[in-house]
Amino acid sequence: MTKGRPRARRLALYLTCIEIPLAPMAGTYKKWAADLQAQYNALDVGQRKLARQVGRRLIKRAGSIAIALASLPDPVVQLIQTDSPLGATRTRSRQRQFDELRQRWSALTPPCPSCRMRNGFPKRSWPTREWAYEVWGRQHDRDALRVYECPVQPGFWHLGHFRMAVLAHVTTALGALFDGVQE
Ligand SMILES: [Zn+2]
Repeated sequence: MTKGRPRARRLALYLTCIEIPLAPMAGTYKKWAADLQAQYNALDVGQRKLARQVGRRLIKRAGSIAIALASLPDPVVQLIQTDSPLGATRTRSRQRQFDELRQRWSALTPPCPSCRMRNGFPKRSWPTREWAYEVWGRQHDRDALRVYECPVQPGFWHLGHFRMAVLAHVTTALGALFDGVQE
C-alpha cells in the first residue's frame, strides 16, 4: 500500500532538512505519515517554518520531491525502502559515518572549501544565518559556540568554538606578520 506515501515523503524531507531524526517506519505509509505528522506538529512554530522553507527550497532546486529525497542521507532513503535500517548504523566505522555525513551535507549545506573543523575535516556551511542559528540552538555546547559568516564564501555560515575563533584570529594576525602565511 502506498497510501500516505506522498505525505510521508514530504514530511520526511521537511524533518530531515532541520536534522530531526525520523520516527522509524513501521507498517504502512499511512501510519508512518501519521507518525511523522505528529513529530512535525511537536516542533515549535519557528522550526516548522524553517523546515518548510528549507524543504521547499530543496524541492525547487532538485525539480521534484523524489530527487530532493534522493539527495538526502542514506537513512532517509533506507527508511522509505525498509522497515528498520537504524540497527546497522551503529556498527559503521567512523570514517564511513563521516563519508555519509558529507553526502548528507551536499544537499544544501556543503563542506567549506577553506574552513576546517578541529579534526581536520571541512566545516559544514549553512546557506542562511537563521538555519545556522537553529542548529546552534540544539547543540549541547552552544555556550562555547558562535555562528559566523564564512570568510571565503560570503552568504554561507559556520558554527565554531569561541576558543578556536580566537586562535584563528591569532593565526591570521601571525600570518600577516609573516607575510601572508596562514592556516
Ligand atoms: Zn568557510
